Amino acid sequence: MSAARKHVIVIGGGVSGLTCAYRLQQRGWNVTVLEAANRVGGFLQSASHPAGFKHEEGPLYFVDGHRLMALIREIGLDSDLVTADLMLPRYVYHRRALHPLPFTLRALLSTRLIGLGSKLRALRDSLRRAGSDGIGESVADFIAWRFGREVLQRIAAPVVASTHAGDVNRLSARFVCPDSLRETRDTASALKGFVRGCHDSGSGGNGERLCSFRKGLHDLPRRLAERLGKENVELGVQLKRIVPAAQNAQGRFLFQLVLSDGERETQADAVVFAAGAFRTAEMVEPFADKLAQELFAVEHPPLTVASVAYNREDVARATEGFGVLVPGDQGVRMLACIWISSIFPERAPEGLVLMRVLLGGATDTDIALAGDDKIIAVLKRDLKSTLGIIIAPEVVAMQRYERALPQYTLGHEHRVRRIEAESAKIPGMFLTGNYLRGFSIGTCVRTAEETAEQVTAYLEKNSTLPRGRSAS
Ligand SMILES: Cc1cc2nc3c(=O)[nH]c(=O)nc-3n(C[C@H](O)[C@H](O)[C@H](O)COP(=O)(O)OP(=O)(O)OC[C@H]3O[C@@H](n4cnc5c(N)ncnc54)[C@H](O)[C@@H]3O)c2cc1C
Repeated sequence: MSAARKHVIVIGGGVSGLTCAYRLQQRGWNVTVLEAANRVGGFLQSASHPAGFKHEEGPLYFVDGHRLMALIREIGLDSDLVTADLMLPRYVYHRRALHPLPFTLRALLSTRLIGLGSKLRALRDSLRRAGSDGIGESVADFIAWRFGREVLQRIAAPVVASTHAGDVNRLSARFVCPDSLRETRDTASALKGFVRGCHDSGSGGNGERLCSFRKGLHDLPRRLAERLGKENVELGVQLKRIVPAAQNAQGRFLFQLVLSDGERETQADAVVFAAGAFRTAEMVEPFADKLAQELFAVEHPPLTVASVAYNREDVARATEGFGVLVPGDQGVRMLACIWISSIFPERAPEGLVLMRVLLGGATDTDIALAGDDKIIAVLKRDLKSTLGIIIAPEVVAMQRYERALPQYTLGHEHRVRRIEAESAKIPGMFLTGNYLRGFSIGTCVRTAEETAEQVTAYLEKNSTLPRGRSAS
């Protein structure tokens, strides 16, 4: 490699890696993205079904926080947006009936989800309350303290299971519960803020809409990769070995990398790991054992996402709204059933209903990795109980994730600090991804943009060459 523009290698072509690479390229650095798969996007993969359904393998939507929307406008994708109200009605399955999540005081006082004691508490709380900052508390402790156990079990726990695939007893309130929960006195508004925050925690965006693109979410990574340029995004290439930066004869600190395609060797002034906690841990373990152990310790319970379809007349209950959430004690195994064709009507042909069922997560790991027959039997039984559908679903797609969403368990903020301290010991190495500040797409974009700034600061500090100009 000649002493040309400083070279940054980004490992991982998901939304985190591509966003970071795009921002770095804009700052004038020479950037290469290495992606192990033969397509970009990581979890963001959209597909079309021969019967006319458009479905997502991973995430279904993003929330329109200002930072993510700025990126989308910049890469010219805003005219392709499809949107829905973030606060579409959600239902909770309780005692064989669907109950709307109560987002107003009137709805809270009339709901059959909670009893008189919890309602009186809500009234009393609207006159006083606020206090605990939630630091060091589990979501369960914090919500029970703030709203009582019924609200925890019948509202908060199913919301968290459906958004984080997580267990309220183990997740950190600090990461999951938005700040507004500590300040808002009115219980119904606070619950609304909780649901909103669970969909986009950490992005700091205050979004109002659920968004996707006409052709699906994959357009975001695809467009970012196009902007980066084909020659700068290498698909089907894995990092095999990396030796941390050492000073060469010209005084330049360079990483040595060995890549999977024919044991090719390359060099970089900085390396950004954007491959998820587990894969990053595997790659850094040979030279940064402590860091690897911290990354391995981030839990990612398995999850199955089933996209299922019916003729509209076969669905006994109306499926207008966001979907149904299920508390763990109702004899139903699915975590949630999200009504995709109600949120984004263009995803299903006329007269058909498309839904997505989530199974598994931290509270029910076994089912997520069960065989197809078992999963389909559970789907059939649970959709009959919750929506009164008596026929078997048409399975449009079934995606199994052995490691799905990172869990922000108690003490996660300390783990992140240790991860940052350990990675800072290796000059020129940076980490970005969904296990640091939040896993929503908006938060991944924010974290990746911040990482790009850190990389730029590092390269500028260690730079003897003007950016964008070759010295060779
Ligand atoms: C089922 C599911 C549903 C979700 N739903 C939503 C939702 O509705 N809304 C939302 O905002 N968020 C949602 N999320 C979260 C969000 O999708 C993720 O947090 C986000 O996409 C993570 O992006 P990333 O780029 O950090 O990681 P990833 O998408 O995991 O990308 C990492 C990339 O690194 C590559 N890689 C790994 N190892 C190597 C290697 N050695 N060399 C080169 N490349 C490597 C991988 O192939 C992958 O492409 C969901 C996640 C899941 C799993």
